[in-house]
Amino acid sequence: MRIDILTLLPGMFEGPLTESILKRAADSGVLELHIHNIRDYSTMRHKQADDKPYGGGAGMLLMADPIVSAIEAVTEEGLKGVKPHCIYLSAAGKKLTQSKVERLAKRDWILLLCGHYEGIDQRVIDGWIDEEISIGDYVLTGGEIPAMVIVDSVVRKIPGVLGKDVSADQDSFSKEFGRKREYPQYTRPEVFRGHKVPEVLLSGNHKKIEEWRKSKLR
Ligand code: SAM
Repeated sequence: MRIDILTLLPGMFEGPLTESILKRAADSGVLELHIHNIRDYSTMRHKQADDKPYGGGAGMLLMADPIVSAIEAVTEEGLKGVKPHCIYLSAAGKKLTQSKVERLAKRDWILLLCGHYEGIDQRVIDGWIDEEISIGDYVLTGGEIPAMVIVDSVVRKIPGVLGKDVSADQDSFSKEFGRKREYPQYTRPEVFRGHKVPEVLLSGNHKKIEEWRKSKLR
């Protein structure tokens, strides 16, 4: 899968996306990740990428031109004749769910546009964005953390990225769990500071364990 991220703050992605499972996915070639600085596509003096909103109001907006130039350049350098699925991270978007994550994981190419300041010029959304996604009903300073949330949740659903595929099929909100939260889990020791592991998990009776786990889905 290829993921392109358009941002004003490319440095924010250095830590989270170059560690652990995401690093392994990139190293193995399952994930091709490209980070682009929107300012690099500005034709204005001082690489300006924002301006005041028409009609007045507080704050600044990202301008359409550098964003659209970036989307066009990325599309052109990518797979010929194919367009990335363009997502704008926005508090006004549809909320991210595990089923949406699973649908995104089936795509070959997604582009994530991170807003900043008061957001972006609406004409970008109207003409170049396929869907707007929110990670929750609260407002962050930029789309970078939401983009990281999407990359992390989507990449772990690509077959082969986790050690065993089955562990992603039996997560909270998975289809197998009826989109509910997972059951409680325990590891050694059997008794920790007086708290015992539920007896059924020590029974060796797989049918009973399965039934107990199903009954504990929340
Ligand atoms: N004026 C905007 C509003 O009221 O929705 C807030 C803009 S916010 C300060 C700057 C950027 O952060 C947005 O353009 C968007 O890309 C991102 N953002 C903020 N909250 C978000 C959320 N809950 N989900 C996804 N992106 C978010």
